[in-house]
Amino acid sequence: MVTKDNIEEKLDLTESERKWLENPSSLPLLVTDYFFSLIDKNNIDDPIRRQVIPQSEENRGEDFLDPLLEVNYSVTERLIHHYNNRCALLTTDRCFTYCRHCFRRRFTGTSSGAISTEQIDDAITYLKAHNEVKELLLTGGDLFTLSNERLEYLFKSLREARKDIILRLCTRAVATAPERFDDSLMEIIKKYNFGAPFVLMAQFNHPVELTDKAIKAVSRFIDIGIPAYNQSVLLKGVNDNVDILEELSNKLMYNRIKPYYLFQGDQVCGTKHLRVDIVKGLEIEKELRKRLSGLTMPQYTADLPQGGGKVILTENYLKEIHEDHVVFETPDGERRSYPR
Ligand SMILES: *Cc1c(COP(=O)(O)O)cnc(C)c1O
Ligand code: SF4
Repeated sequence: MVTKDNIEEKLDLTESERKWLENPSSLPLLVTDYFFSLIDKNNIDDPIRRQVIPQSEENRGEDFLDPLLEVNYSVTERLIHHYNNRCALLTTDRCFTYCRHCFRRRFTGTSSGAISTEQIDDAITYLKAHNEVKELLLTGGDLFTLSNERLEYLFKSLREARKDIILRLCTRAVATAPERFDDSLMEIIKKYNFGAPFVLMAQFNHPVELTDKAIKAVSRFIDIGIPAYNQSVLLKGVNDNVDILEELSNKLMYNRIKPYYLFQGDQVCGTKHLRVDIVKGLEIEKELRKRLSGLTMPQYTADLPQGGGKVILTENYLKEIHEDHVVFETPDGERRSYPR
């Protein structure tokens, strides 16, 4: 594991990275050896390096710790109920590798720890009383940092209480710690793979993360009938480029992973240097949509400040509304009239 105690032996640090070490921010420096090995050590702009090695810019005190107001939407200690038919459960604050762009800094890498039996039971009591909840995001932190025993208790309790809830397995570990998905873990997942489906929600942000090992980890889910989706974050100097995002999406789909969201970076403290201007993001989205098929195109999405919720961002092709017709602009910039 690479941490702040051994990073200087492993990487020739830039001035900004060294400055962070002297005055570290709250989110720990932690990278698996595997993910660290993907960094090109001679390239200070390496896309993996930018995602996991902190820079002094993180310590600028602008922005918010919790722009999505998740604390206000929490209905138990670990359960967030923002949207009517789905909830998010914070299963742990730990990750195998901490992303510098993490939007849940208020919680991730703190000392909250793995979800306790009591916290699981509290969430279940709530879910039993709220039949409108049809999907549960098992998130954190990274779900798969939990021990196999804890995971088994969690899956067992949820399946017993509400076998009709779709369980989204939200994890970046397929990218950062693919060896975690060994036979004994997959046996547990198989054992509880009945009733409403499991759905794997991965996070790959750059094509170099899709190594043979990572693809194999995802395939272990797909091969037992669990569909895989990807949520990327649009990151300055990492993937804010149409060619890179085009390659990422095509490579994901080729490996049976559906590109689902491309998130605009939230206004979270310490992430500003990685955030892309939203107008540039819209230009990228417009160009990407011309190049990609419907299947491979992710939805560019922002989570609005002060808990406003998610909205999809796309070029507005509808330009005029008249009494008997509307006028569109085609993706190639021409005009077309359409009757009402
Ligand atoms: C994003 C999110 C969800 C899931 O939203 P989808 O648009 O269905 O992917 C659920 N709960 C919370 C709190 C979220 O932030
Ligand atoms: S894996 Fe997810 S929760 Fe963990 S640091 Fe990265 S973005 Fe945050």
